Amino acid sequence: MNAQAQFPAALLPAVEVEGISKTYGPVTALKPTSFSIPAGRYFVLLGPSGGGKTTTLRMIAGLIRPTTGRVKIAGRDVTDQPANRRDTAMVFQGYALFPHMSVEQNVAYGLELRKMSREQIRERTHEMLRLVGLSGFEARRPTELSGGQQQRVQLARALVLETSIVLLDEPLAALDATLRKDMCFELKHIQESVGTTFVHVTHNQEEAMTVADEIALIADGTVVESGAPRQMYERPHRRFTAEFIGENAVLSGPVGPSGMRIAGTSVPVPSGERISAISVAAENVRLSLDGTAREAWALPAAVVDVFYLGFSALLHVQIDGGPSIPVRLRARDLPDGLSAGTRVWVDWDVAEMRGHVD
Ligand code: ADP
Ligand code: MG
Repeated sequence: MNAQAQFPAALLPAVEVEGISKTYGPVTALKPTSFSIPAGRYFVLLGPSGGGKTTTLRMIAGLIRPTTGRVKIAGRDVTDQPANRRDTAMVFQGYALFPHMSVEQNVAYGLELRKMSREQIRERTHEMLRLVGLSGFEARRPTELSGGQQQRVQLARALVLETSIVLLDEPLAALDATLRKDMCFELKHIQESVGTTFVHVTHNQEEAMTVADEIALIADGTVVESGAPRQMYERPHRRFTAEFIGENAVLSGPVGPSGMRIAGTSVPVPSGERISAISVAAENVRLSLDGTAREAWALPAAVVDVFYLGFSALLHVQIDGGPSIPVRLRARDLPDGLSAGTRVWVDWDVAEMRGHVD
């Protein structure tokens, strides 16, 4: 799709934001923020509610004017351009379909405004509906579709415009968990097959991990950290990233020559960097029952609760004099008789531990 927009645009970042910020009177929705989105990638803005994701996306779309900074699309400064001159299409939160129009008319709508021939419009509309798995639904009304199908119509309506960038704001938020997961796989496949740059906003980390080539984590009006999903999950740099992505035991304490002081015990920490916290993925925390822990510094603790989840089991364990941390075991490694109050030791392979800066 969109061969003319991808060359030479593919050589340039699809989107560059340079120091964009947004304030509403005394409220700062976004602090000055810069990042760039490579062409043809699936980029996700992830973060807690109120962090500034929608504001960022709408500034890229041209629906909100930045208080400071510039927005570039394919190398061209579009800060002063209106939304309809930006080579972007938007998939809004909720479904926002025209209720009195058929599926086909909803998808064709944006093309009608372009004065293409009937035949061309019909061909492209049908091609897009095929791409999103809705061939045969052309004549239906939005009320005759499931939530997932309505979401696909919205996607087709954006894709049919053949812009080089598609912006999606919480596109799956209205769907139930199972459908959301399936739609994630589909979105990813569709993005890969059309090669269009997708910029997708979500507060859901699993959704972000599933679809993204690259994630920018946004909180409190600023980009905290960005990187590939695997890097963000396995090697988070900032403490907030370790708290927000994945399921991690995050611990902090004063750092001295013998390690980090946690509840009276010195735990060895990665050397070199000045860190304020450490984290270990819940699946890398080891649990021992009877003082047979592998590390001399193992921390005494008590089980708070145990959730058997089928493939795995999730426990929370309260370190004596310290915080409660998550521990994930394969269900078959769950010791018999483990329950709230059971005394345990926790430790981990030092190589699995990550150091963080605030
Ligand atoms: P997110 O999409 O990450 O949930 P938003 O970008 O919608 O966050 O909002 C970021 C912050 O800016 C929030 O605190 C929100 O209340 C505030 N905000 C957003 N739009 C406006 C507005 N039009 N007027 C005042 N405050 C706003
Ligand atoms: Mg939002």
